[in-house]
Amino acid sequence: MRPTGDLVRHSKSYVLGHVDAGKSTLMGRLLHDLNVVDKRTIDKYRKEAERLGKSSFALAWVLDQGTQERERGVTIDVAMKRFETDSTIFTILDAPGHRDFIPNMIAGASQADFAILVVDASIGNFESGLRGQTKEHALLVRSMGVQRIITAVNKLDTVDWSQDRFDEISQQVSSFLMSAGFLPKNLASVPCAGITGENIVHKVDVPKASWYSGPPLITLLESSEPIARALEKPLRLTIDDIFRSGVQNPLSISGRLDAGNVQIGDMVLVVPANQMATVKGLEVDSEPAEWAVAGQNVILHLTDIEAKYLKSGDVLCAPTAPVTCITSFTVKLLAFEHITPMHCEIYKGRLHAPGRVTKLVAQLDKSSGATVKGKPRLIKPGSVAKVIVEVDDPIPLEQGGRVIIRAGGETVGAGLVE
Ligand code: GDP
Repeated sequence: MRPTGDLVRHSKSYVLGHVDAGKSTLMGRLLHDLNVVDKRTIDKYRKEAERLGKSSFALAWVLDQGTQERERGVTIDVAMKRFETDSTIFTILDAPGHRDFIPNMIAGASQADFAILVVDASIGNFESGLRGQTKEHALLVRSMGVQRIITAVNKLDTVDWSQDRFDEISQQVSSFLMSAGFLPKNLASVPCAGITGENIVHKVDVPKASWYSGPPLITLLESSEPIARALEKPLRLTIDDIFRSGVQNPLSISGRLDAGNVQIGDMVLVVPANQMATVKGLEVDSEPAEWAVAGQNVILHLTDIEAKYLKSGDVLCAPTAPVTCITSFTVKLLAFEHITPMHCEIYKGRLHAPGRVTKLVAQLDKSSGATVKGKPRLIKPGSVAKVIVEVDDPIPLEQGGRVIIRAGGETVGAGLVE
């Protein structure tokens, strides 16, 4: 049976915030209080944490399972964690906070429906976080199409559950998010403490916090509707990884279905190699399945194709409606840094390609999109502009595709292909 729309109940969330804001701890707490992770596993991590003298990291370790990551106490890769509540399936992408890891974040952000922004409420840390990566991450997810942000004003225990502090932070974060283009109706914030669990799954039970009468974080997460999925559109699946999953399945790929659907037996076209492949088997969120639809993370076991034709960042598409590969395109972008005609790297999920900004077409008005200035010589950080980008080798990009532009190790802009 081919899938129908109401079968898709996935919400994908993306967790962002400055390094040390408490993202991993908060997610560990969420998983723990929802009984997704059993107490034995947590105790095991706690023991190991104590052995290394970092007991407060125990919950964070639930997420950062690689040994190397644990010893450094930071999340290095975008770790996919999936968990279910009565109404929704969440896949949490725990984003690394360090600047070097932005390409990893991009792969994560392009998959999220909403984001959880974790901010550290303690004195000084909120201010430096907002000056640091918090702003950049928020701009980035906005340009990747995420519309809803839930702000977890975390570590409120460190400021004695001060309502003034919560109000001040919520206000500053919302006004910044609105200036980045988020609509007020899509913003919410909640006072919480991930380490002890107040207002994560259970309502806060601290007398000093009696001023807060709203719901805990989990309620806000569950009320986030998944964005409408492009089920009826032709198949588009960007390859994340290519691997051998066993004797039976020597050639498998993983990725997320951006549009359309796929089932066992389907023929798919791999672009840019322009080679056909047959889908012999598939898995959705690591479980065997007959079919998959837009919005799901899948593994496809392929036959009738050689591994040399598959690369991460390539696109599997419907042979009747293939994606075209292009070398020149116009991007409407939000600039994070100064942009001039220059060499750059283009990122779209796992795809990245060297290229150049060849022409600055216009600077646009942020809200109306009208041209403010034609042929600017320079685009300043924070402004919206239309530029022409060229790449050496054709890449599978379509109108509406979301790309990130980086240069010299920095994200200089992000936007939509026109
Ligand atoms: P991440 O880098 O954003 O993932 O941050 P972590 O989850 O690793 O937490 C960073 C530090 O903040 C750790 O030392 C945590 O124990 C501490 N921390 C996390 N949540 C809270 C909280 O709610 N209250 C307090 N006081 N400390 C917290």
